[in-house]
Amino acid sequence: MDREHVMVRTDTWLRSRVERLWSLYFADSPQGLPIRVRFGSRALYRYGSIAQRKGASLITINGLMRYEEVPEWVVDSVLAHELVHYVQGFGSGLPKTVRYPHRGGVIQRELAQRDLADLEVRGDEWLATNWKAHFARYAPDILAAKQMRAESSGDVWRDWLDRPGLRTANHIATLSERLANNCGFTVTPFQVEWLHAGLRLRSMSTYAPKAGAVRLHGLLADRRVPDYVVDLQVLYWLGYTVAGSSPHAIFAWMKLVRPQFDGAKPDRWARTTWPKFLEREHPLRRLRVVQK
Ligand SMILES: [Zn+2]
Repeated sequence: MDREHVMVRTDTWLRSRVERLWSLYFADSPQGLPIRVRFGSRALYRYGSIAQRKGASLITINGLMRYEEVPEWVVDSVLAHELVHYVQGFGSGLPKTVRYPHRGGVIQRELAQRDLADLEVRGDEWLATNWKAHFARYAPDILAAKQMRAESSGDVWRDWLDRPGLRTANHIATLSERLANNCGFTVTPFQVEWLHAGLRLRSMSTYAPKAGAVRLHGLLADRRVPDYVVDLQVLYWLGYTVAGSSPHAIFAWMKLVRPQFDGAKPDRWARTTWPKFLEREHPLRRLRVVQK
């Protein structure tokens, strides 16, 4: 390996940042478990975390923040976020002062009370602008692996959708035109295509207005998914283009143009059958099993 001299931060450095933040901004709050802090693995989406471990409160910071291209105050902003979790009773052994760690702006409120609101805003801005490039520079191996997984999952979806007996791309294109016509559209306002959905996506469809495309979860190609469920997805986004983003307004529009359409049936299917169906039938889940 090249012995190029790269300055990287150490866990000791992290500890000094925590001590500084604590004494400047958190000194009035009660002490819970002793805080340990360390750099963890490199990750694209997780900047920091806090958890109770072996009688201590362990704060882990994204390993890519070792590099000095990430400004000190950006690391501080992540540490401050974790310290808020700490004082609010998450991973610290202290009593919880809020019910959920991230809901209802509890973090922002606490930071503002401690004069740290600005730090978090600037930190988020820096990360939004620079993090992807930083990640690409110092974690090209992870990026390449992600890319490969994405490509292979595309292959799996294409093969899966190609099997005989499924709803085809043609089928959903015709369906959307027919429904649009029935609802008084002269031109169908979007294309409908199959979405090569990842394992985490729970919703059955998404709409990308800029691309002019509604994407139906690939599993909806399976004929065991009732027609009325697929119909509702298309109708919903048709409604969206005229009634706006409020589901209430969209369903009111649907009642108006399709009074005979019973929305309760697809709703029931979505709540009761879809989660199980997704769990059992997702082609990428099967891929994982095969690979083991
Ligand atoms: Zn958090």
